[in-house]
Amino acid sequence: MTNSDSVVDVERSLLAGVSTDVGWRLIERFSTLVRESGMADEHAGADYIVDELSRMGIDHEVHEPELFLSLPRAASVSWNGRECRAKPPAFAVPTPSEGVVAPGVYLPVPPMRDLGEIFDDKHAAGGGEPPVRGKIVVTNGYAMPSVVQRFERAGAVAQVYINPGANIHWGICTPIWGTPTSDNIEQKPRTPVVAVSQPDGDSLIDALERGAAELTVRAALDEGWFPCKLPVATIKGAGAGAGASDDFLLVHGHYDSWGIGIGDNAVGDATLLELARIFHEHRDRLQRSLMIAWWPGHSTGRYAGSTWFADNFAMQLRKHCIAAVNIDSPGCRGATAYEDVMWMAEADTLCRQSIQDATGQPAARRRPIRAGDYSFNQIGLTSFFMLLSNIPQEEREKHGLYPVGGCGGNIAWHTEDDVLDVANRDGLEHDLRVYVTAIGRVLNSAILPFDHRLAVEEMDDALREYENEAGDLADLSVVRQELDGLRTSLAEFYEDVESDTVTQTNDSINRKITELSRILVPLNYARGRRFDHDPALPLGTIPMLSDVATLKSCRSHTPEQLPFLQAGIRRNANRIAAALYDAAMLVRHNP
Ligand SMILES: [Zn+2]
Repeated sequence: MTNSDSVVDVERSLLAGVSTDVGWRLIERFSTLVRESGMADEHAGADYIVDELSRMGIDHEVHEPELFLSLPRAASVSWNGRECRAKPPAFAVPTPSEGVVAPGVYLPVPPMRDLGEIFDDKHAAGGGEPPVRGKIVVTNGYAMPSVVQRFERAGAVAQVYINPGANIHWGICTPIWGTPTSDNIEQKPRTPVVAVSQPDGDSLIDALERGAAELTVRAALDEGWFPCKLPVATIKGAGAGAGASDDFLLVHGHYDSWGIGIGDNAVGDATLLELARIFHEHRDRLQRSLMIAWWPGHSTGRYAGSTWFADNFAMQLRKHCIAAVNIDSPGCRGATAYEDVMWMAEADTLCRQSIQDATGQPAARRRPIRAGDYSFNQIGLTSFFMLLSNIPQEEREKHGLYPVGGCGGNIAWHTEDDVLDVANRDGLEHDLRVYVTAIGRVLNSAILPFDHRLAVEEMDDALREYENEAGDLADLSVVRQELDGLRTSLAEFYEDVESDTVTQTNDSINRKITELSRILVPLNYARGRRFDHDPALPLGTIPMLSDVATLKSCRSHTPEQLPFLQAGIRRNANRIAAALYDAAMLVRHNP
């Protein structure tokens, strides 16, 4: 299978194999399981996946890590003799049984407008320290780590989040990504945090405005180490083995859930199982291998399963993983648009074209946010997708649906309402076709379909903004020079790749494309060290330069600190410049 005609043939054959019988059976089975990580129902979910893989004769193994989780139990908020139901986000601090009692203070924020704003700290705009010391702060939105941290640092004794909508959304409020380390465990939340519904929240605000004396917050959670199951299927391509490449594509999603969790993420688990079936049936026509993983610990361990895998298979991933595909919440009812889909810039053509070809619909990109199971950025894996189809924006506005982080935009997300009718079988099939198309192209293209020129353009736009923000307060010319050098080298490299008289072997070209990911993904998406995990806090492009944004306010408010800030920026600029130079050397013809 070496010429492009047969790539097209294989794709046609793969698509002809698309059906949802196996997947739908999984969804029906999962609709009877509350897959809370570490608990019997979650293990039953893993057993179901494993039984299906065995039945279909697909190679697999089951890892059994102990994961550090926080399982939310009961919670409530009381005032003036009234008590309302609440949910504590995972990793909130439990209260004593009598609760935490303190005066309440309400700090409103404007409503979230889209997915990207879910994680934002809207209180940052106010500046200064919020007036919450010794108080129970009441605010709007989801209990996200950036906001929770702000109020803790300002001395709040407990926090109440008024979720939009009639139900309360489960969630997680720690910024620590996966298992904590001794370096970051002090970032664990230190206050009790709970969420309440909009109607109860409105009553609470009303009571506070009338001068309610005190609030009582109660929260119970079980925190500790829990035994989990992590199934991984491997489909060896015919091009793999026998001295050939061990390269594989990692396709993954979480199978633990909040409640029954059909839209988030039984539909994704069904998709993974169908992908295993389809690609296994075509394994002798695949150039590269496919690894499919189902994660536990996503919801109550901040992506603890995928992080455990990244930590424990780091070198296998570093050497052989050509890219990672995240599958969360496809195939949900009413989700017919592809207008808010994440992928890294270098996968732009692949993702856009796969969606267009598989569904006939255009797609719009969102740069991946620091969320979901994007646990491989600091290993340097090019990654694409997370959520896929969505209820069209116009429909959502018409029905007053506020932003959520899954279920195709259905506000049943992270509630007891995320049950069987959130899934849509036709939608599942449409999305499955998108995945089959994109995955097939990565597995079978002679040249890996990742164009790092686009990642460099994205970094160039960001660098221009940093240069403007820095003005004369920081010299970023060392980054500018190496980025321009890399652009030139990449132009020559891809020109050679695309020419009729290419001077390199496909193996050599693909190795370079993969090694470029190893260098450029951490630069584009990470602030911390390689093989570590940055916290789940908003991160911009080239996050190592993010301190540039604070230069001007530092000069105005704490000028004596400015030289220290500048020294740190200088060192990070050097780190970035050196990595860009390494990337250019890698692809240069005669280095
Ligand atoms: Zn999910």
